[in-house]
Order: sequence, then structure tokens, then C-alpha cells
Amino acid sequence: MFAAKTLPVAAGAFAPFKVPRHRVLNAMTVDVEDYFQVSAFDGVVPRERWDGLESRVCRNTERLLELFASTGVTATFFILGWVADRFPGLVRQIAAQGHEIACHGYAHQLVYELTPAEFRDDVRRAKAALETACGVEVRGYRAPSYSITARSLWAFDVLLQEGFTYDSSVFPIRHDRYGIPDAPRHPYVVRRPGGELWELPGATVRLGGQNLPVGGGGYFRLFPYAWTRSAIAHVNAREGKPVMFYLHPWEIDPDQPRVNAPPVSRFRHYQNLAKTEPRLRRLLSDFSFGTAATLVQTAAGSTDLLRFPALAMS
Ligand SMILES: [Zn+2]
Repeated sequence: MFAAKTLPVAAGAFAPFKVPRHRVLNAMTVDVEDYFQVSAFDGVVPRERWDGLESRVCRNTERLLELFASTGVTATFFILGWVADRFPGLVRQIAAQGHEIACHGYAHQLVYELTPAEFRDDVRRAKAALETACGVEVRGYRAPSYSITARSLWAFDVLLQEGFTYDSSVFPIRHDRYGIPDAPRHPYVVRRPGGELWELPGATVRLGGQNLPVGGGGYFRLFPYAWTRSAIAHVNAREGKPVMFYLHPWEIDPDQPRVNAPPVSRFRHYQNLAKTEPRLRRLLSDFSFGTAATLVQTAAGSTDLLRFPALAMS
């Protein structure tokens, strides 16, 4: 299924839980969507209602931008096309601050619930909305809820045909909604008949014969920070590998309106929202972070991806 390539990421001699910040560059990524657009609320907040709800995505993303600016971190923002169409100024603001603009699909639909043709329409529409907003070519894609699974590997072919260079949608874990448990844990190349693209998997540690997720989102909020820190330090220092970390703007917004979803979804979504921002500050000071594109370049030993050509603005 996968053709993994050994990557030229140098493993240094690291102390157990003290990683020299500059030695391993990790990827900091943000999935830019509003609090009511998450897959867990699909059944209770239909897409037709989205336009009528209070939007908090701009203010929350701006708070993340301030945090990244104050810590000198550049990140990758995987943005919904729906958000880009309504708030193109936000996309321009993110790009103007030196961050990478990438694609999170248009309407937050799970890839494995779409046909290849529907998926193509969704990513094409999203990529166009983002590129129209900021004038920079979009090369990276992340599926809503990591929904490229064994059922939807055809998505790689569509992404290649639509001009994407890398993907970050395969979580190598067991989960009720996503994951390919035996997929590689570190950046690798996916080879398909139509070409190759890089995959940046969500961060995991190997424990008891299983991959455990440590890479952000709910895992960052639900587990103590000491666990996240130890796990990332282990991957950076002992394995000499980067991690791909992710979070959402709504995760730093404890005051967001509550959605009447099932208890498990409410727990996953609302637990520890007030702790995310202070934890993120600690994380940004404990480890080095850059964009997903930079991580791919490091892994590929190439600078080609840095040259995102500017598109003609109409
Ligand atoms: Zn999402």
C-alpha cells in the first residue's frame, strides 16, 4: 500500500527530555474552521445552518497569529474553502505574516464519504478560494478529521492531479473515525501511478506495540502537558524525527457557544479549552516549530517547495 522512503533526517545525540530547540524542526499546523464545523457536530449542525451561526474563526485565528508572532513561529494554516470565501481578508492576513496557506477542503466533508468526483470538486473549489484570496499557490492538503483511510486511498490520485505536493491526512493509529494503524509514523513518500506526494502523519509514540497519538487537538487538551512534552521529546531526541502538531482556532476559545451534541463529542470538544493557550505557549518554548512545507523540504533534502510561485491576481 505504501512505499516508504528512508529520510535523511540526522539523529543527533540527545539527552532524554531536554531537546536543543534548534536540532529538530517540528511542524506547527492549524486547521482553520469554526467551532460548529467539526465532524463530531455533523449530525446536530447541518451545513445549511452554518451561515446563520455566530462566527468566531477570525478572532480565534488572530489570537493564534499573535501568539505565533510573539514566539517567532511560522506555521501552516490548513483553511476551509468555506472560510476563505467568507473571510478572504483572514487568509491574506495569515499569508502576510509569513505563514503557509494550505487546504482543509471546502465544506469539511469526510473524504471516505465522498465519491472521487465529489472529492475532486471539493478540493478544487477550496484550492481556488484560497488562491483567489491570497494569490499564492496552495500545495498542501489535510482532510477533515484525517479522513484519508484504507477506504479512500484514491484521494492521493486526485490530490496529485489537482496539483498538491504533500498531504497530511493519514493518522497511523486506531480511532473510531479515522486512521491507518500500520501506516508509517514519520514523513514518507506515497507513490501512486500518477506520481509521488509526501505524507506528513500525525505525531505518535510507539508504546506497548501500538501507536499512540500525541500530535495535538483533543490529545493535547485531554492528556497532561507533561505527557505531550515527554512524548515529543522522545520522538525528537531518541528517534531523531520531527512531529507534526495540529490544533484548531476554537480550541483556545473557552467562551464559544455550546452545541447540544452527544456526550462523547461534547467531552472531546469542550474538555480543557481554557488550558490550550497556556499549554501552547509552553510547547512553543520547549520545542522548535516551522511550517509543514519546511518539514517536507527538510525530509526531502530539497528547497524546491520553498518556491511557491505567486499567481496572477485578477
Ligand atoms: Zn477540520
